[in-house]
Amino acid sequence: MPLDSQVPEGPLQQKWDRHRFELKLVNPANKRKYEIIVVGTGLAGASASATLAELGYHVKTFCIQDSPRRAHSIAAQGGINAAKNYQGDGDSIWRLFYDTIKGGDFRSREANVYRLAQVSVEIIDQCVAQGVPFARDYGGLLANRSFGGAQVSRTFYARGQTGQQLLLGAYSALMRQIGMGQVRMFPRREMLDLVLVDGCARGIVVRNLITGAIESHSAHAVVLATGGYGNAYFLSTNGMNSNVSAIWRAYKQGAFFAHPSFVQIHPTCIPVHGDYQSKLTLMSESLRNDGRVWVPKKAGDTRPPEEIPESERDYYLEEKYPSFGNLVPRDVASRNAKQQCDQGKGVGPTGYAVYLDLRDAIRRDGVDAIRKKYGNLFQMYERITDDNPYKTPMMIYPAIHYTMGGLWVDYNLMSTIPGLFVLGEANFSDHGANRLGASALMQGLADGYFIIPYTIGGYLASATLNPVDEHHTAFGESVKRANDITEKLLSIKGKRTVSDFHRELGHILWEHCGMSRNESGMRKAKELIPALREAFWKDVNVPGASADFNQSLERAGRVADFLEFAELLVEDALSRKESCGCHFNEIYQTADHEALRDDEACCYVAAWEFTGQGEAPRLHKEPLTFENVGLTQRSYK
Ligand SMILES: Cc1cc2nc3c(=O)[nH]c(=O)nc-3n(C[C@H](O)[C@H](O)[C@H](O)COP(=O)(O)OP(=O)(O)OC[C@H]3O[C@@H](n4cnc5c(N)ncnc54)[C@H](O)[C@@H]3O)c2cc1C
Repeated sequence: MPLDSQVPEGPLQQKWDRHRFELKLVNPANKRKYEIIVVGTGLAGASASATLAELGYHVKTFCIQDSPRRAHSIAAQGGINAAKNYQGDGDSIWRLFYDTIKGGDFRSREANVYRLAQVSVEIIDQCVAQGVPFARDYGGLLANRSFGGAQVSRTFYARGQTGQQLLLGAYSALMRQIGMGQVRMFPRREMLDLVLVDGCARGIVVRNLITGAIESHSAHAVVLATGGYGNAYFLSTNGMNSNVSAIWRAYKQGAFFAHPSFVQIHPTCIPVHGDYQSKLTLMSESLRNDGRVWVPKKAGDTRPPEEIPESERDYYLEEKYPSFGNLVPRDVASRNAKQQCDQGKGVGPTGYAVYLDLRDAIRRDGVDAIRKKYGNLFQMYERITDDNPYKTPMMIYPAIHYTMGGLWVDYNLMSTIPGLFVLGEANFSDHGANRLGASALMQGLADGYFIIPYTIGGYLASATLNPVDEHHTAFGESVKRANDITEKLLSIKGKRTVSDFHRELGHILWEHCGMSRNESGMRKAKELIPALREAFWKDVNVPGASADFNQSLERAGRVADFLEFAELLVEDALSRKESCGCHFNEIYQTADHEALRDDEACCYVAAWEFTGQGEAPRLHKEPLTFENVGLTQRSYK
């Protein structure tokens, strides 16, 4: 099946306008005839639900948490990009587009990225109107800071709580619609299956996480905004509930999965400190605006940082990348930290850490100024490590953070299943092989507030959809599939816990398909994962019952999906015979140890098709063409 990206003809700058004009419209009075399911209430899902309801559609919204406002988006710290150019420092829609394409190592679609840069400007206006308390400068204009991969300041922020404040904005818009009866909210529900009728997405089957009841919900279209799958690695900066299940089960119904191996490693996380950790905490990239990254010049130097004189410190990012310094993009900063630690220059008890030091900024600007900018981040670091970052440098190390892969979508954000739309981190679009800081929030809100409201109308206005309700046989089949998995999990009664399997899977992925990859490691992972999966289905212990509140059962279902998905992730990494962005295959590197792309052979989106349980997935390639930016070796020097 050829992948049709539906990218409109015409000059880049006019594509979105032209498309919006050409899309068929649903008459305002007819919108109330349509029901739309939105799964997920992070920034992408909450903004989509609120806007679709505002337009007049009936919306049913689902999330795992007890309240929509507890979605994982709440954790985002640093900020959201937009090409407003308030400072007059040279920013523009074109520059944001260019930085994002280049930052993603030329593995994303030009037309999507340009549209993202265009609507970024509207996002800020929308959020300000909702009352999001962005930081402001002395003249009252919104303040900006810079983020990795950019030489301009375009990141809007609300201290270190930008995700939380943006989510409160989207949440209040959603609550308004819930109050008006236009959105029906279903918290504490987990989507277990997607329901297809006549090949189109027509509903979902969910588990009520409080009672254990399995419920069916029908609609005219389904929108998945279920976030990223970084937790496949067990330790990550993601919320504990983040998972792959909704998109994985849609994949098994026919939605193609694109770029599963493009997982982002964030350079500034609190390092691993023990075996029984379940999460790694991110220290926002914004700290690299004022913080300087360094290690001792001499390998094996165990002196405390304050005893290491200036002349014996290696500010390796500033040395190697004088133009960007500490603000190089995440993949570059992560790889360099690993190289320093591999050379024995890592610090801290494990040797797997580098310093992020704000000493000079504190001396220059004063403690109060630094506290104003980053106070809550410093507080968080101190609570976790018991070290005071105002006095001693933070210790950081890279960790899994964000997933650029996800379900393949066309320009309309529709998957290969008609009527199934995918938004935010759950889709693959826009970031290519590496995401620049502060652009996930931008993409989630662009998708939800400004793209899906147009494109879903185009679909509904042109599709022929027969009446379908929850009594349709397709729902019965899906419920059976969901119940079968549950019963199987509960019947094993083995000896190992779900977490135990999850931790082992994470270890395999991090070791063999993490920050840097090589062929033999990936082949090893391809052997280890099926063996672990087999062990899981023989020996996992899931206590309790199905018709009850049972968090072990919830986690077991998610880990079962991670165990299947992990194999696709490795398969995808193995099939890409180049290094790009965060996908760093050791065979393909420049003399400077930077990622070496193969634009001749690998300028494509890898989209995988499920061909049956136990069967090899089929690879489809969407060629990527660059008509507006030249493909160049990324350089931040
Ligand atoms: C610590 C941290 C800091 C970050 N900081 C920034 C930043 O400063 N700037 C930036 O741009 N990005 C940042 N990011 C990335 C950004 O926060 C995420 O990419 C973004 O919030 C994802 O939003 P989303 O709406 O796609 O998904 P999420 O916010 O993850 O929401 C997923 C939703 O789906 C629901 N869900 C999932 N599975 C199911 C299921 N099976 N059934 C029902 N519901 C389901 C969940 O309940 C939830 O409501 C950060 C990420 C982390 C981890």
